[in-house]
Amino acid sequence: MTTQAVFKGWKGNDEKAVDGNLVFEEFEPKQWDEDDVEMKILYCGICGTDAAALSGNFLPIESPQICGHEIVGEVVRVGNQVENGVKVGSLVGVGYQSDSCRECTECKSKNEHYCPNQTVTFNSPYHRGHGKDNQSKGGFAKYWRGPSRFTIPLPEGLSPEVAGPLMCGGVTVFTPLERFGIADATEPKNVGVIGVGGLGHMGILFAKAMGANVTAISRSNSKKDDAMKLGVDDYIATGENLKDAFASYNRHFDLVIVTSNPPEFPINDYVSILKPKGAICFVGIVPKPLELGTISLISSNIVVTGSNIGSPEGIARMLKFAAEKKVSPWIQKWNMDDINKAMLEFQKGNPRYRYVLVNTDNGGKL
Ligand SMILES: [Zn+2]
Ligand SMILES: [Zn+2]
Repeated sequence: MTTQAVFKGWKGNDEKAVDGNLVFEEFEPKQWDEDDVEMKILYCGICGTDAAALSGNFLPIESPQICGHEIVGEVVRVGNQVENGVKVGSLVGVGYQSDSCRECTECKSKNEHYCPNQTVTFNSPYHRGHGKDNQSKGGFAKYWRGPSRFTIPLPEGLSPEVAGPLMCGGVTVFTPLERFGIADATEPKNVGVIGVGGLGHMGILFAKAMGANVTAISRSNSKKDDAMKLGVDDYIATGENLKDAFASYNRHFDLVIVTSNPPEFPINDYVSILKPKGAICFVGIVPKPLELGTISLISSNIVVTGSNIGSPEGIARMLKFAAEKKVSPWIQKWNMDDINKAMLEFQKGNPRYRYVLVNTDNGGKL
């Protein structure tokens, strides 16, 4: 079976790609498998991982690299073994992961995001079927092809324009909130969100929608007005002296999510603001190893952990929750044809709080 789709996208060829040097060209999608779908891409968010990948900071650039992993589009072709009930005409989203082995313990227990042989949505080999060893191509493109299990239908009531950022950033913060029972609590939990940015602002929105008391924690007051508009109950500008900043928050938080990427992280100061059995969860990367005293772990039973995206089922639950509770990331839209300008602005830290690229020729709305 042949396809009508012409696969063109914005390729990164070297580590200067991120500095406005993506090149629009035709590319080969993965070889077709019968559990695949093809979609015309309407929207694709820009995530920090895309910028890191296109600068060579993440892994060396394997040319040509087509990034973009907050993809939303309309299905134009399905195989005869598709999953998730995806049909031609369905609006769907794809996040950071595009495939998994299907055979390991994690895949069989619906924890595909922990599969040791998973395929990331860009620049990562597929391990199954006809597409075996093909490199994945992401959403900075006109069309996308890949396995239907990781192609999640959008629920009724969710705007496709805001769904892209939910596919990676949204599920990244939703998963730890779900894991630590924030939505199911009989009494509102106290949740701290460190960093008010792409991930952090979605963490605030989800935690508030789950009924939590939410505190934004940031170095300065520069994001305070936005945090208040996002609905926080409290805001801590830590400044340089964490002990002073946290003096009245001793044993206050049930869960603190770290969404920023500071060069180092003074974990012991943050341990003091966790309730016994409370948790601190990293979704941002801190390059320097944590220095953590075991006495504080033993004496308060706290959990220090991390979290990585979510499973296909977890993404579907997150989208359903977002649709029902009207969780809507703050986005700024760019025509995808202007992706090079958008990447430059992205790197200056200008998104408030997520850029979404729009393929107007495919029906996306600016
Ligand atoms: Zn991402
Ligand atoms: Zn697996």
